[in-house]
Amino acid sequence: MDRRDFIRKSLVLGGTAGLAIATGDAEAKEALAGAAGVKTGRCPRKADILIKAGELYNGTDPLPVTSDIAITGERIVYVGKANPKIESRCKAKKVIDATGYVVCPGFIDPHCHLESLLLKQKANEPYLRMGVTTVIAGMCGGSQYPLSKYYGKLESQGIGTNTASFTGHNTVRTKVMGSEDRFATDEEIAKMQDLVRKDLEDGSFGLSSGLYYVPGCFSKQSEVVELCKTIAPVGGIYTTHVRNENKYGIGLYDSIIEALEIGKSAGVQVNISHIKCLGKGVWYQSDKVIAAIEKYQKEGMKVTADQYPYLASGLGLASAITPSWSRDGGVKGLRERMKDPEVLAKIKAEMPGLIDERGGADTIILTAGAKEYSGKTLAVAAQMLGLNEVDAALALIDKYNPSCNTFVMNEKDVVNYMTRPWVMSCSDGTFGSHPRAAGTYAELIQKYVVEKGVLPLAAFIRRSTSLVAETYRIKDRGVIREGAFADVTIFRPAEVRANATYTSAKLLANGFKNVIVNGQVAVEDDNYLGTLSGKVIRRGVDTF
Ligand SMILES: [Zn+2]
Repeated sequence: MDRRDFIRKSLVLGGTAGLAIATGDAEAKEALAGAAGVKTGRCPRKADILIKAGELYNGTDPLPVTSDIAITGERIVYVGKANPKIESRCKAKKVIDATGYVVCPGFIDPHCHLESLLLKQKANEPYLRMGVTTVIAGMCGGSQYPLSKYYGKLESQGIGTNTASFTGHNTVRTKVMGSEDRFATDEEIAKMQDLVRKDLEDGSFGLSSGLYYVPGCFSKQSEVVELCKTIAPVGGIYTTHVRNENKYGIGLYDSIIEALEIGKSAGVQVNISHIKCLGKGVWYQSDKVIAAIEKYQKEGMKVTADQYPYLASGLGLASAITPSWSRDGGVKGLRERMKDPEVLAKIKAEMPGLIDERGGADTIILTAGAKEYSGKTLAVAAQMLGLNEVDAALALIDKYNPSCNTFVMNEKDVVNYMTRPWVMSCSDGTFGSHPRAAGTYAELIQKYVVEKGVLPLAAFIRRSTSLVAETYRIKDRGVIREGAFADVTIFRPAEVRANATYTSAKLLANGFKNVIVNGQVAVEDDNYLGTLSGKVIRRGVDTF
């Protein structure tokens, strides 16, 4: 790609204007205006950290500027064009020579499932090691409730990355009516609204739904609209794992329309979680989905999406290949139903189609919880068990309830979504079962920026930093400018390696020279230094 072409492509994908045009959000544009360009303010005589002569991508601008950055406490106090005399002008306790390195805002992951994991693995090392400094949890309808208690725990134990959360629709629905297969009554909806309101007061970013999962799949569109009306007055956001990402049920396209209509009816901003075309039955529908979303954007609605860069999706084996009606009451309910020969026959009758839609037993890889079958395909596990694929799958679910990865996506759709200016990078990660939790950001750099050239570097940085901060209105993050929090990631693109694979999902990424969280160096030359400088990020307190 020649330079002019690069700049043009970067401006289309990476410019600050991207989201503002996509969403008509004048306020977000204004809030970021202070971040555009490198200022040449006065260099302080002292600082805690000096990052000198790095290729600075500030998160919003398409082209880098070779710059010096000074950090004192938890903030960036100076950004200026690189000066060979900087070290004598600014005495710093620590100097990072970033000559030849990319320096950019720490990545903000807008969609992960780390909420319970962060209570056990508070460092969040897998994320730090791939340049992520902030994560947003509580996705696909599942969150820790109440958030006040959860946030309190995070703050008392300390965390490696900044952490925010949504409130899960399935979480509040389960609290009010268990996992029953029926519509909610007005009274139950009112109870759910109260639970959501409580979390909003404590800093929840809005409502997440998982309309594919139990019990969200039992709810009507109107139930979700009513819950979204609760988050509307405070500018809460609706982020959704749509009802069907595949051809089943109402199908992918109508599921996207349902999400958009929910947002329109309730007057809230919508984010489509891990946008994809799942299964051969809906491959190549990305153009149609994109057109629908951009139509609503043109009509003035704020709509974004997030996406992980893998062709396999990861989830529970039961969720992947058993009919949703059979999972009323969760896997426990499924196990009960399997005891009734007549119902079992019905379940079995639907499974070959579902297995086929997931790419077939040859490509379904069993992961966490599958004991000696972990890392094996369903076809191999069936051979080991001496059963056919359907019986083997049910035996495994009955005994272990394992997770799996299924190769359900087409790269054409993945790239099509990836190159829209309103699609953010995300991991969708739960550590250990899919490579995305330890690899996403390294994979994007290694595969889609360096190897394939699908994303210009500035566009990758934009969709992984300032676009997320704008979408969720996170104050003073996602940009490198004076006054912003010192969340900084430093790397050489050609050195970055995503090591996690479908069979070894826990291998951490390499190639990050430094990752700084709130002014403290968390990673140095691929080593985690033991810091816990992350903060809880609350809507209303840490947002604009
Ligand atoms: Zn999801």
